[in-house]
Amino acid sequence: LTRLYAPLTALAGARVEVMSALVSFERVFEILDLKPLIAEKPDARRVPDGPVSVEFEGVSFAYPTADKVSLASLEDVAALDSRGGTTVLNGISFRAEPGRMVALVGSSGAGKSTIAQLLPRLYDADTGSVRLGGIDVRDLSAESIRETLGMVTQDGHLFHESVRANLLLARPDATEEDLWDALRRSRLDTLIAALPEGLDTVVGERGYRLSGGERQRLTIARLLLARQRVVILDEATAHLDSTSEAEVREALGEALEGRTAVVIAHRLSTVRAADLILVVEDGRVVERGTHTELLAAEGRYEELYRTQFERPEAERTGVPG
Ligand code: ADP
Ligand code: MG
Repeated sequence: LTRLYAPLTALAGARVEVMSALVSFERVFEILDLKPLIAEKPDARRVPDGPVSVEFEGVSFAYPTADKVSLASLEDVAALDSRGGTTVLNGISFRAEPGRMVALVGSSGAGKSTIAQLLPRLYDADTGSVRLGGIDVRDLSAESIRETLGMVTQDGHLFHESVRANLLLARPDATEEDLWDALRRSRLDTLIAALPEGLDTVVGERGYRLSGGERQRLTIARLLLARQRVVILDEATAHLDSTSEAEVREALGEALEGRTAVVIAHRLSTVRAADLILVVEDGRVVERGTHTELLAAEGRYEELYRTQFERPEAERTGVPG
């Protein structure tokens, strides 16, 4: 894997690209031999033991992209902040209680993925505070953040490696039994057991071609094996038929049990299950509440619900962003 991905490390933004493989940050950093972009303090602390809360308080953020921004109009100039970037997040505040799920919904480009990227310190907030277990992430050690936080992103990207290697990324010391247990819980055991090479079957582009639903279930198996107490999930509904959707939903529910989750939700089932839903628009939280509360409010969420979530899930091809 090092060989495979080494050239990427030379490219700016490569890390985010590779993040689209669902793997714990720890393993990604190891594989790429990358240090976190942002340095830790010499007296960095650890996330306390036990369930972990996730908090954003008054968080504003602009990507540092001054050199790449082409200024089309005076309005664009006005949108640049002092660091030269365009403001993407504006006063984001919310709290995910330990073990609970917060869902972020909103149109593409609203800032949902950016919110997710501030947690592992791929970037730091310009103002405000991002906290894990009550401690500002800037005061935490990189190691503790990696141990605490896992990420699952769209499309269930897999490395061109064996099923076993893909699973071991999540927990290097997993036993054969652990692997089969995770596969059973993600409803993949029958399929993998039937393959001539079983766990040693190479998957991916040039290997055994898993369907979209199978890929997602394999990423969920990884999530089941992973030990992180906080999970950031960028869902995707693409490629899922209704059977897979039901299976993925069930397995995912199991995988998230007992963990704090921040989910960029594209599936109605996830949105409904969330303890708190935030509607994000233009880098602001414009509405918050439970599914029932927000529907009753007949605001932006209700509108989103009608346009994005109301149709039978299997009919949709996934929501961009
Ligand atoms: P969402 O996940 O809700 O679709 P994003 O957080 O990906 O939204 O994007 C929010 C805004 O930030 C968009 O305008 C997007 O173009 C911009 N953006 C996203 N990533 C970067 C980046 N790496 N550099 C500069 N701008 C970015
Ligand atoms: Mg996104």
